[in-house]
Amino acid sequence: MSDRAPQPVERQLPTEESRDLLALVRDMIQREIAPRAAAEEDAGHFPREIFTLLSRSGLLGLPYDAEYGGGDQPYAVYLQVLEELAAARLTVGLGVSVHSLACHALAGYGTKEQQATHLPAMLGGGLLGAYCLSEPSSGSDAASLRTKAVRDGDDWVITGTKAWITHGGVADFYTVLARTGEEGARGITAFLVPGDAEGLNAAAPEKKMGMKGSPTAQLNFDGVRIPDSRRIGEEGQGFAIALSALDSGRLGIAACAIGVARAALDEAVSYATGRQQFGRPIADFQGLRFMLADMATQIEAGRSLYLAAARLRDAGRPFSREAAMAKLFCTDAAMRVTTDAVQVLGGYGYTLDFPVERFMREAKVLQIVEGTNQIQRMVIARHLVGPETR
Ligand SMILES: Cc1cc2nc3c(=O)[nH]c(=O)nc-3n(C[C@H](O)[C@H](O)[C@H](O)COP(=O)(O)OP(=O)(O)OC[C@H]3O[C@@H](n4cnc5c(N)ncnc54)[C@H](O)[C@@H]3O)c2cc1C
Repeated sequence: MSDRAPQPVERQLPTEESRDLLALVRDMIQREIAPRAAAEEDAGHFPREIFTLLSRSGLLGLPYDAEYGGGDQPYAVYLQVLEELAAARLTVGLGVSVHSLACHALAGYGTKEQQATHLPAMLGGGLLGAYCLSEPSSGSDAASLRTKAVRDGDDWVITGTKAWITHGGVADFYTVLARTGEEGARGITAFLVPGDAEGLNAAAPEKKMGMKGSPTAQLNFDGVRIPDSRRIGEEGQGFAIALSALDSGRLGIAACAIGVARAALDEAVSYATGRQQFGRPIADFQGLRFMLADMATQIEAGRSLYLAAARLRDAGRPFSREAAMAKLFCTDAAMRVTTDAVQVLGGYGYTLDFPVERFMREAKVLQIVEGTNQIQRMVIARHLVGPETR
């Protein structure tokens, strides 16, 4: 198994501070993340202490306001950090992205008082978050969710089941979308639920194809009581908050996908230059050279696309369409590139002795999470031709 840190890439970074940040991240990857990645993924070990380290180093709050302990970094910088982390280990890169997604509601829609109370611990105080939208019967059709929150005096009582929750059972806080009113998108409200709330229980983690170090679990809310001071935004505003979080989150998934694809290309290049067949390195054969060239081109194109969307976001412009395009393109590219990397390694690529099979299994999930790629196409098409007529 290879435990190498990914090869460095030429990056456009806007400031000295952002260049130092990327150097710090690469150093942390080399020392703390890459050496353990393969063995821990194989064993299904969740590296909780790495997230504590990232939090204490200011890397769990990068795109958020410095006033509350965030890093005040542009999204275009934050995403490149995610790409580096995911290239070393997807469980870590995606975990940071999900944590960021979980902070989005409070940072964007919380009151000043709520932000001052909760955000410093969430952004840099060692806490880890999770985002709870999906349910057993509502995935793509998220607005049909059934988990209920019922008002009881100054409290809310939450009852229902959330499914597929990344960090389910290990998170310190959960951003939860629950029904407080009418059917459909307008009856949903967002809440911040502490991880140790009474009545909140996680099932055993799902047994997944890949990302085995990242726990994904169902969460049962059995009359979980929380004060109204933990309601985020207005009653009925939850679905809009959830979608706004997902626009940003999708860019995180796109960056992670490019990270995984890059790791696969590194392995493919290294193998192709070392392996000899017909008395020559296989990298001599045009059939493989063109494959490597296509892989590299898809990675560069994907990075350009996610950065273009991030720069729109950084400029305060609409970026929902571009985020969907970046998520779609980068994750499909990651699936193709990782599959081709297995091909470049031939039979060895199909064994557990090389990491490319893991990258291929990991790439698959990125086409599914935070809106499947069919849903991304629906979002893009709506921007082109308007909503469906039925
Ligand atoms: C490892 C992992 C981690 C996850 N982490 C989280 C998390 O932290 N928080 C969270 O809330 N959720 C999480 N999810 C859930 C994820 O977001 C859902 O799996 C995803 O949204 C799809 O929902 P579903 O699985 O119910 O599939 P379904 O919605 O049932 O879709 C099944 C298939 O039908 C297709 N389909 C559905 N509707 C349409 C349509 N209108 N047009 C065309 N095709 C359509 C889909 O694209 C898919 O191919 C996670 C999932 C996984 C696998």
